[in-house]
Amino acid sequence: MKQATIIGSGLVGSLWAIYLNKAGYKVSLFERRADMRKNTISAGKSINLAISYRGWKALDAVGVGDIIRKSAIPMYGRIAHQIDGSTSFHPYGINNQAIYSVSRGEINSRLMDIAESSGMTELFFDSQCTGLDMNKNIAYFEHNVNGIKFETKSDVIFATDGAFSTVRYQSMQRLDRFSYSQNYIEDGYKEILLPANSDGSFKLEKNALHIWPRGRFMLIALPNIDGSFTCTLFMPFDGHKFCFNNLKSKDDIITFFKEMFPDFYQLMPEIAETWTDHPISSLAIIRCFPWHNKQTVLMGDAAHATVPFYGQGMNAGFEDCTVMAQLMEQFEDDWNGCFAAYEKMRKPNGDAVQDLSLQNYLIMRDKINDPDFNLQQKVEKRIHELYPDQYLPLYSMVSFSDIEYHTALEQGKKQDEEMKKFILNHDISWSTDDRTLDDIIHNALGKEILA
Ligand SMILES: Cc1cc2nc3c(=O)[nH]c(=O)nc-3n(C[C@H](O)[C@H](O)[C@H](O)COP(=O)(O)OP(=O)(O)OC[C@H]3O[C@@H](n4cnc5c(N)ncnc54)[C@H](O)[C@@H]3O)c2cc1C
Repeated sequence: MKQATIIGSGLVGSLWAIYLNKAGYKVSLFERRADMRKNTISAGKSINLAISYRGWKALDAVGVGDIIRKSAIPMYGRIAHQIDGSTSFHPYGINNQAIYSVSRGEINSRLMDIAESSGMTELFFDSQCTGLDMNKNIAYFEHNVNGIKFETKSDVIFATDGAFSTVRYQSMQRLDRFSYSQNYIEDGYKEILLPANSDGSFKLEKNALHIWPRGRFMLIALPNIDGSFTCTLFMPFDGHKFCFNNLKSKDDIITFFKEMFPDFYQLMPEIAETWTDHPISSLAIIRCFPWHNKQTVLMGDAAHATVPFYGQGMNAGFEDCTVMAQLMEQFEDDWNGCFAAYEKMRKPNGDAVQDLSLQNYLIMRDKINDPDFNLQQKVEKRIHELYPDQYLPLYSMVSFSDIEYHTALEQGKKQDEEMKKFILNHDISWSTDDRTLDDIIHNALGKEILA
């Protein structure tokens, strides 16, 4: 039987093990952490995340989507919270399209369960990869608890060991002509857990992603099935009036929340007491190329780690699995051909999802408060409602389709320019009534706005 090694049993590695099992591979899956299913360790990073079309497609292809759906909470749009306490709802799509909040630990655990229950995947925990011999397909490990060093040899090695991949660092980065860049953004993030009411109910509307956009920084909240919300404050580390370094004392924190997020402060007056429950973490974009050498390949964050503002990092990693599985069928045992085709196809998409993620930070923290931006969103949404097969707003291309990310990025830029002209040329404003807007759209369709 063909043998595969996967390094890193995070989200992508665990899903990819299921794919490989279905393709007839026996998988050894090595993870440096302890088994999160037996220990109350967190799966790291955010407690919950948003899954959208690409993620579901990859899960459904191996029959595990419905298991994850059981604990997924639909979010139909954003609710923006202003300083004066007013709120506005901004739907993500049409016909109740939603992105879904899922627990990182839950999805990771279920994927490991499913891989293991096939009898074709063996999981090794506390097993830290320390390097590879890519000429011999050997991976080297050290056990984190007993310190024993060991190695494994297989037909093919998949590195799904995340943004700070050891495989990439210890092996790929030593190759001639391997390009690599790691760029931290100015901002970091801190998680805050907003507990459920004492009866278990939600303190905010459950089926939405909440945002408190404040220009240079923002707070967001995603629902959890126990009635709590995982909230994340994104802001600069330093150099601004409102930055993490200026929130040193409990008084600083209380004053900041009372001033900038008064409605949130009312829901969570204990904010200063819980401030140190979670660390302040940094955010980086990591680009590299090539993604393979001989029989070793990078997938997920190891290949294209991005900042979380489009909620696409995991979705893009899961899409790597979809694409790799298709190419495996096409190339059969020619791994070199398969990996070359994979990196050629996916690298532009990895780059694009990173660019899109950076763009969306500006939209979430700032533009969502801009009347011109919201007018454009309203017009785009109406065109999409009237002509769903002919016009897809950028957000829908990214979150509700599997149009390649780089195509979405390019098309999105083009549409943005055209839409601005369209609004200007037709004198559309907030006072344009719905009937008139529909007439303008019907008259113009096919002539000027749609490519
Ligand atoms: C704050 C935040 C919010 C996010 N929200 C979203 C979201 O809403 N939607 C979305 O799609 N994405 C989101 N993401 C991105 C998402 O978390 C990542 O894209 C995703 O986790 C990538 O999966 P992965 O399996 O490639 O890497 P990881 O999930 O990082 O898994 C890597 C695994 O490899 C293990 N490992 C590392 N080194 C070694 C080693 N040397 N030996 C053995 N094992 C090793 C790690 O312990 C880990 O288990 C978010 C990220 C952050 C930081």
